[in-house]
Amino acid sequence: MGKATGFLEFPRQNEGYEPVTKRVKHYKEFVFALSDSEAKIQGARCMDCGIPFCNNGCPVNNIIPDFNDLVYRQDWKSAIQVLHQTNNFPEFTGRICPAPCEAACTLGINELPVGIKSIEHAIIDKAWEEGWVAPQPAKHKTGKTVAVVGSGPAGMAAAQQLARAGHDVTVFEKNDRIGGLLRYGIPDFKMEKTLIDRRIEQMQSEGVTFRPGVMVTDGELPAGIKNYARETISAQALQDQFDAVVLAGGSEVPRDLPVPGRELAGVHYALEFLIPQNKEVAGDGPNEIRAEGKHVIVIGGGDTGSDCVGTSNRHGAESVVQFELLPQPPEEENKPLVWPYWPIKLRTSSSHDEGCERDWSVATKEFIGGEGKDSGKITALKACRVEWKDGKMQEVPDSEFILKADLVLLAMGFTNPVGSLLSAFGVDTDARKNARAATEGERAYQTNVPKVFAAGDVRRGQSLVVWAIREGRQAARSVDAFLMGHSELPR
Ligand SMILES: Cc1cc2nc3c(=O)[nH]c(=O)nc-3n(C[C@H](O)[C@H](O)[C@H](O)COP(=O)(O)OP(=O)(O)OC[C@H]3O[C@@H](n4cnc5c(N)ncnc54)[C@H](O)[C@@H]3O)c2cc1C
Ligand code: SF4
Repeated sequence: MGKATGFLEFPRQNEGYEPVTKRVKHYKEFVFALSDSEAKIQGARCMDCGIPFCNNGCPVNNIIPDFNDLVYRQDWKSAIQVLHQTNNFPEFTGRICPAPCEAACTLGINELPVGIKSIEHAIIDKAWEEGWVAPQPAKHKTGKTVAVVGSGPAGMAAAQQLARAGHDVTVFEKNDRIGGLLRYGIPDFKMEKTLIDRRIEQMQSEGVTFRPGVMVTDGELPAGIKNYARETISAQALQDQFDAVVLAGGSEVPRDLPVPGRELAGVHYALEFLIPQNKEVAGDGPNEIRAEGKHVIVIGGGDTGSDCVGTSNRHGAESVVQFELLPQPPEEENKPLVWPYWPIKLRTSSSHDEGCERDWSVATKEFIGGEGKDSGKITALKACRVEWKDGKMQEVPDSEFILKADLVLLAMGFTNPVGSLLSAFGVDTDARKNARAATEGERAYQTNVPKVFAAGDVRRGQSLVVWAIREGRQAARSVDAFLMGHSELPR
């Protein structure tokens, strides 16, 4: 513990943001990381608690009190060594993790928690700047081969760990670029894609082969998921050619809203809007779905919805409204009741601050098309208010209303992984159609199919980047133990 009285002396300092009027004019990141001296003060606030609840609250179990102390002492090189012990990609989580660690911080019981995420951000950015993030190729090759299907954070973490253990790893990705939802989902203004590119280079130097534009399949993709693959390879071919296979294909099937008018032009799944936007920023040509001058309604209140809000405002939407089916949560959590767990409370993202009217307890009943030149296009939306009793939703009588709408984005989450990927391998699924695999015990992350493993959203359902990294790392250890009889990779 760097400074015993730090938590009494120093307040929390959040990272700064570029003003809204400036940042909505571009797609670059707009967060100002803490300076060295600001990060030092944040590190000094850590109480180095006997039981570090933050460490348990962090899905990758980052050793938070240790790196807080090292940053307080300005020993940045040791800090990145500690951080990399548990997290392959802190530059991703330091930007886009919702920071459950901070909800679990003991100082947070009666004060504002330590800014753990901002410290993580500062450590990894400095490490890259200083050239301390170097490839770590394995000293000995094992001669074993592993195929990883999907290049999101779960696939990337699994691939990096397995390559460092000496295996020959090939990552198959149906999209034309590597990164999963980090690349094609999360907008550049939250996380710039050069961060993925430099990790790809590092991983290539460690021996990972990336094969973008190759879909592993014996079937079709469902509606709402675009196929950017140039080639296909069958599940059988992977099973024949590799000693182990890790399925890390994410949970891609979007939840639909099958109300009258769903077929109208201007009603889209969120990723039909967000993926082409990321491709546009990458230089692939314009996003054909435009929000300029339009009344945009985003249906769904989570991260995906918030990203649609931020992107619509950058397009220059006339108005942006976001609906949520659930009631508005309280502004503050009941700390004694929920600490150290993740609280349900009102969360306002930087995208909301850029301009958005949020409305809760609203259900959409119909998309309304126009007439004449607007025939076949959405022009309005009919909704009603709902109330929740004993967990059941009821329509509030006489509460229907109509709003102008030229663009509706469905951001109500993802129901399950693409079934054809799992059935191609014969992988059993659970009640939610996710790949069935335990996370503990000798068969951790193994599916029912010999030598086929599953990790990330494909196994746990729609989740977070940090959980995907955890699962990728843990699955890698299981694969390594399966191939070699034992593993020295960390769990
Ligand atoms: C718009 C949006 C914003 C989000 N924002 C955040 C956030 O701010 N913070 C956060 O923590 N989480 C966020 N999430 C959630 C997070 O992105 C996911 O939980 C995480 O990316 C899951 O990682 P994964 O590796 O399991 O899967 P994905 O990232 O989904 O990667 C799976 C990859 O597998 C590929 N694939 C699938 N099937 C095949 C096949 N048959 N052959 C070849 N390739 C295949 C897919 O193309 C995809 O690239 C967001 C999600 C969305 C949609
Ligand atoms: S990965 Fe997320 S939960 Fe873990 S320390 Fe970083 S911000 Fe906190």
